[in-house]
Amino acid sequence: MFRSLHMKLTLILLLLITSLMAVVGAFLTVSVSSFYINAFYQQMSDVFGGENNSFVFDLRGAAADPEDPAGRVEEILEAKAGSLGVDYRTRNYFVLDGETGAYISSSADESALPRQQSANLLAARNAVLRRDETSAGDESDITADFMDVAVPVMGGENAFIVYILDNKDTVSGLNSQLFLIIMQALVIGLLISVLLSFLLSKTMVGPIEKLTAGAERVAAGDFGGELLVESADEIGILTGTFNEMADILQSTLAAVENERNKLDTLFLHMTDGVAAFDHRGRLIHCNPAATAMLRRPVDGDCSYDSLFGSVYPFREVLALRRPNHAEGELVVEGSTLELYLAPFSGQDSGSGVMAVLHDITAQRKNEEMRKEFVANVSHELRTPLTNVRSYAETLREAGGDIPRDTADSFLDIIINETDRMTHIVQDLLTLSRLDAGDAELVLSRFPFEEAIESVVRANALNARQRGHELAYDPPESLPLIVGDRSRLEQVMMNIIGNAVKYTPDGGHIRVTAGAADGVAWMEVSDDGIGIPEKDRTHIFDRFYRVDKARSRESGGTGLGLSIALEIVQRHQGVLALAPHQGPGTTVRLELPVGGPDSKILSGE
Ligand code: ADP
Repeated sequence: MFRSLHMKLTLILLLLITSLMAVVGAFLTVSVSSFYINAFYQQMSDVFGGENNSFVFDLRGAAADPEDPAGRVEEILEAKAGSLGVDYRTRNYFVLDGETGAYISSSADESALPRQQSANLLAARNAVLRRDETSAGDESDITADFMDVAVPVMGGENAFIVYILDNKDTVSGLNSQLFLIIMQALVIGLLISVLLSFLLSKTMVGPIEKLTAGAERVAAGDFGGELLVESADEIGILTGTFNEMADILQSTLAAVENERNKLDTLFLHMTDGVAAFDHRGRLIHCNPAATAMLRRPVDGDCSYDSLFGSVYPFREVLALRRPNHAEGELVVEGSTLELYLAPFSGQDSGSGVMAVLHDITAQRKNEEMRKEFVANVSHELRTPLTNVRSYAETLREAGGDIPRDTADSFLDIIINETDRMTHIVQDLLTLSRLDAGDAELVLSRFPFEEAIESVVRANALNARQRGHELAYDPPESLPLIVGDRSRLEQVMMNIIGNAVKYTPDGGHIRVTAGAADGVAWMEVSDDGIGIPEKDRTHIFDRFYRVDKARSRESGGTGLGLSIALEIVQRHQGVLALAPHQGPGTTVRLELPVGGPDSKILSGE
């Protein structure tokens, strides 16, 4: 309650008024007392003072009276009562015995005397003892609760003390009155101060309270509505500055929020995984990519040590100085993750470690495939080259001693091996063009059936030579399809050619085709050697052959199906092994009737 500015103001004003009244009261009381005391002693000095004072001479004369000296003295005092200010209540005169100070007579009665003789009375008694008429007891004592003057009066053998005593009742009454007035003034002053504090609080505290409410609103994130600047004084300036500050704060917060949103979106959708840990190694952020890569639920309970502790110790990463970072690799369920670890700085507990994860499984696989491919190519070329070299050397070493038909068969082998190498190189060239995307498809609309028939026809002689029965049952109607006819025929050639190659003589090869739902398909089934289960997923790999010897024998390079698959994929079709009953193989080719991108264009 006393914390509010209003209460403080009221309290200050109350204290101010009270202390002011206390000071004024004290000052007035002291002033009145000292004025009264001074006036008393001045009056006494006027009456008793002076060298040739007739009043004092009269008193001495009365004291020398042989009959009733004390009575005479009293008479004179009574006559002078007005000048002495004797009012018979607060101020009285006394006639005392000069030596003992004993009461003789007075304007009041004996009980009005103080119990103990005062310093002034003792001084006067001493003066009487010394027979010194001029010394009187007239010292003022502000602390005493009475004022007195004792004047020795000696006449003949007699000695009296004229004692004037004022019991200060007048000044006490005056002070009581004063106190009452001050108290009344204090009450009025306090009332005024309370009213004043209300007035002040309206003019000063009111705007401050509004400002406080505004600041609380802004602190709670509500920036709507400016505060009204009601005056041009300091509070008005403060209100204006506050409005400006709130505006700046709002735009700064909006900018920060915007940046945060951008970062959040980036964080959410980036393909690289990002995980952040606090200075104790506890997870504070993890984006969906990181969760997917780590293949486990990543939540607040996860720690750096449980995730990446095996790659790099947390403390060491935290101790790194920017822009240094640590790198490592982590294998999670067959995936290889590249890990970049860097500290981020903040104040003490604001620091931590940021981990960026990059899935390099495909990259690693590609590298391995490239190495394997280079090794395969070298191997495939080395064999025919070795053959060519050995037969050529034999021919040269033999000179003319070799029979003609043997030399011819050697030369035939050399030519065959050279053809084979040319074949491999051509296939590699085709593949690399397809890989690089250089091999543009020459699209045209052509009858699917016609293309199949021409390929079947081209294989007919070969099939007949091997004693195969090559059957093609064309359906009633096949659509026109869009595609690169010569390349698609190359694909069909490879499939039917393989069926002829990998079927022992006298086999049955059946070609079927159809179209449905915008897709034209062709299936080639044979009852040949078939493809073992373990090899079925690999036959589209480059240089993959189930039986290397048989393939080479029949002039195969192991690249035919890979090239065929590339061409079909460029047409956005499907080339795959289909389920097959009994011995043999079925290969299925599917092509979009409208050509590549037709699915996207038709909105499918
Ligand atoms: P190749 O030049 O060796 O024929 P391909 O890429 O055309 O290469 O075929 C890859 C491998 O797939 C062949 O070596 C063969 O082992 C197997 N293959 C392909 N088609 C058939 C089939 N119809 N029957 C049995 N095996 C086949």
